[in-house]
Amino acid sequence: MATGQHGCIFCGNKPLTKEHIWGQWITEYVSRTTNKYAFGHVVAHKKPEDNIERSSLRAGDPIGANVRVVCGRCNNEWMSQLQEKAKPHLIPLFKGETVWLNKSAQAAIADWIIMATMTAEYIQRDPSMIAISQTDRNKFFERKPLANWKVWIAPFQRKHWIGQWVHTSVPIYPSEDVPPLTAMVDPGQTRKTPPLSSVNCTLTL
Ligand SMILES: [Zn+2]
Repeated sequence: MATGQHGCIFCGNKPLTKEHIWGQWITEYVSRTTNKYAFGHVVAHKKPEDNIERSSLRAGDPIGANVRVVCGRCNNEWMSQLQEKAKPHLIPLFKGETVWLNKSAQAAIADWIIMATMTAEYIQRDPSMIAISQTDRNKFFERKPLANWKVWIAPFQRKHWIGQWVHTSVPIYPSEDVPPLTAMVDPGQTRKTPPLSSVNCTLTL
């Protein structure tokens, strides 16, 4: 795995340790229901013909996915603390209970989701497909606010849907480079495609 050649994605240190993205404790409350899952990877470019769409079936349940991209110190210290802070708010949600989430509970859950999203991006093994910037990871590591991040949560009953992990990268244009609406659907336009600067990761548990 190419990412393994580098240091921790947050602090740069080595050695790297294996980290369960969602934490092993989660399986007490969210049962593993599948022995394979669909892994989709989509990069949307301005020109539809440049789009990249890949999907594959992977063994195991995404609940048990792990990556080796963070160091032991990060894993056991601040990441573990974020997880412990979110746990008391997450457990009643996993149990389907109705709970009131005040501001600090919302922040704790959002931190846990952001942490998992940043590490889970490395489930896919192509480093060129990492869309979250190092700047954002550094800010998160330094516990600075991430102004452009939005985190939503919602109840979901899986029913017939199989588990899936979808990673979507969408280019975001500076306001002066936003083409008129008609040009956006014109594959003949020639504006230079900017670097990927947005990522949308969706995991249905
Ligand atoms: Zn680290």
